[in-house]
Amino acid sequence: MAENQVITRSSRHQKQNKQSPGNRYGKHIFTLISILVVLMVAGGAYFFYESKKQEAQAQDRFEHGATTLLSEIQEERNQSGIASQKSEKNSDQLKEVLYVPENPDGKLPFEDSKKTLEELMAKAKKKIKDGSKSVVVGKLDVKSVSDQLDVYTLVAENYQWNGKAGDFDGAKTVSGDAQYIFHKTGQPVSVNELIPEDADLLGIQQVIQQKILDQAKDKSAMIDKVLNMPRISRDSKIQYTPEKLTITLPDNETGVKEMTLEYKDIAPYINTALVDQATLKDDSVPALDPNKKYVALTFDDGPNPATTPKILDILKEKKATATFFLLGENVAANQDLVKRIVDEGNEVGSHSYSHPLLTTLSDEEVKAEVQKTDKAIFEACGILPQNLRAPYGAADQRVAKIAGKPLIHWSVDSQDWESKNADAINARLKSTLYEGSIVLMHDIHEATLQALPQVIDTMRAEGYEFVSVDTMLQQSQKPLYTYFGATDFRMIP
Ligand SMILES: [Zn+2]
Repeated sequence: MAENQVITRSSRHQKQNKQSPGNRYGKHIFTLISILVVLMVAGGAYFFYESKKQEAQAQDRFEHGATTLLSEIQEERNQSGIASQKSEKNSDQLKEVLYVPENPDGKLPFEDSKKTLEELMAKAKKKIKDGSKSVVVGKLDVKSVSDQLDVYTLVAENYQWNGKAGDFDGAKTVSGDAQYIFHKTGQPVSVNELIPEDADLLGIQQVIQQKILDQAKDKSAMIDKVLNMPRISRDSKIQYTPEKLTITLPDNETGVKEMTLEYKDIAPYINTALVDQATLKDDSVPALDPNKKYVALTFDDGPNPATTPKILDILKEKKATATFFLLGENVAANQDLVKRIVDEGNEVGSHSYSHPLLTTLSDEEVKAEVQKTDKAIFEACGILPQNLRAPYGAADQRVAKIAGKPLIHWSVDSQDWESKNADAINARLKSTLYEGSIVLMHDIHEATLQALPQVIDTMRAEGYEFVSVDTMLQQSQKPLYTYFGATDFRMIP
């Protein structure tokens, strides 16, 4: 159409322009401009029409995508069984859906879910890129952590529309504080449920102290500060998640203000139903073979430079391990020997500093007996002894509390200290040893080391294996309890 018109008009112009060439060119220019204007108007109209059409199609795709997404979310809400009040807001750019959980019995662990959700929605909307289309959903998420534990979280999810892909990008989530709900009570997990006994707090205290020492650059400058730390209590600030625990420590000289602990390191001291089971896996405790009979040989009153090395030689040769309850006063002069005990896979425990009857001492004296020994053993081998064997097996609750350590007693007495005779020791153990027993011996008697090879050989022939106390108890022992054997332990009355 336009071209025909142009040809007609230009031919007419040609005739008219014969008289004046200048005028003729002017007319040509006018014609060209006219053509351009017409083309531009037509083109503009075309592009305007096209872009409106595309915009409408894009909006249709977004609306369709949003409807599909929101019906999926509705389905997920229905499946979740969380009764909610639903409200919606719609614009071309933004679809907002808010599910405020109903709370008829007031059991939900949130003060004002609606207010929190609205705040989260506002935060989520701020993250929408300028000019983008989005779907924003506010709701309560409930996920199962274990068969005893759910996590409740108020969330706002922002699904930003990707026009090019014709789909939503994955949700970006803004979350409120997580609340962990214990099935048994229907209430948030409390510190008292997670850490049930005072014994557990003392056990955690031991782990914290060893950790601070492990992390210290100058360990010898740190040991006194660690031994004199005030203990954590039920008043300590304890931040719990199913993955880890963070405890604010009471004021202390170590410079460490809080400690984050992995559950595998404090498993005996917590209610493990309340934590993520994957966080409990611990490879540091050797697994026991259910087909073997385990016993724990323990040697008291050393280290003794004349006899202890020979005991260690025998254990090494026979591939057996044992536990040595050391007297603090013997340690300083025999640091290499203590180190050797540990390096060869054996375990060290505390047997007090000077072998007193602890029950007759004052609180301060008991504390000094325990702390001086801890320090001596730590300086020799870098380990704070976890376990205490009270001299003469004499301890009460007061002593146990001050010591803050599990008390390792025994169930089989070799009577080596009495008989001082290798044959008598062998006969005694042959007749009294049983699976899971803790055996009392002393690494300071000649007769004990003479008896030891035969003890190991004859008992091994009967199916026994020799492991440390920690291994036999699978590191489950707690302060304020006395342990007589693998399955025989009780709280100190
Ligand atoms: Zn002793």
